Amino acid sequence: MRCPYCRYSDSRVLDSREADEGRAIRRRRSCVACGRRFTTMEEAILVVVKRSGVREPFSRAKIEVGVRKACQGRPADDDAIAALAQSVEETIRAQGVPEVSSHDVGLAILRPLRDLDEVAYLRFASVYKNFESLADFEREIASLTAGPPESSQDQPARFGNVMQTNGKVPSLGL
Ligand SMILES: [Zn+2]
Repeated sequence: MRCPYCRYSDSRVLDSREADEGRAIRRRRSCVACGRRFTTMEEAILVVVKRSGVREPFSRAKIEVGVRKACQGRPADDDAIAALAQSVEETIRAQGVPEVSSHDVGLAILRPLRDLDEVAYLRFASVYKNFESLADFEREIASLTAGPPESSQDQPARFGNVMQTNGKVPSLGL
C-alpha cells in the first residue's frame, strides 16, 4: 500500500480495528519515508458471477443504473434509488458468501423495488423472471394486488404503461 502523499511503498501500522460490524478492517498507518498518516480499509471482495461466467466485483453503482432504467418516467427519486441499492448490498452481504450470481442480485432487487414502485418492479421482473406472455404479467399483477391492499383501481392504466416499455428495456445492465 503506497503512501498517498509521497508514494513510498512501505508504511507502519499504528492501529487496526474492526469496521462495518466486523466485515472490514480499518488501519491507521504511518509512512516510513515521510511520516505522514493515512487510513486504509480492508474488506473481502464480493464477486458477482454473470450468466456468461465472467466474474466482477459487486457494484452498488451498477444496481443504481439498472434500477434507474426500470424507474424511467416514474416518480422514484435518486435518493430512494440509492437507498434501495444500499439495502440490496446489505441483503447480499448478510448472506456471508464470497460469490453471488447476477441472477441472485436481480432477485434481491425485486423485493425492495416492488415496495418502491410497482411499475418499475414489473419492468424489472419481466426481464429477470423472463416474462414471455401477457399471462406472465397478469399472474404477477395478480400477486401484486393480492399482497398488501394499496391501490388496485388504476391497475389497467399501469398495466398499459408496462406493456409500452416492455421490449424497450431488454437489458438492465446487470
Ligand atoms: Zn509518505
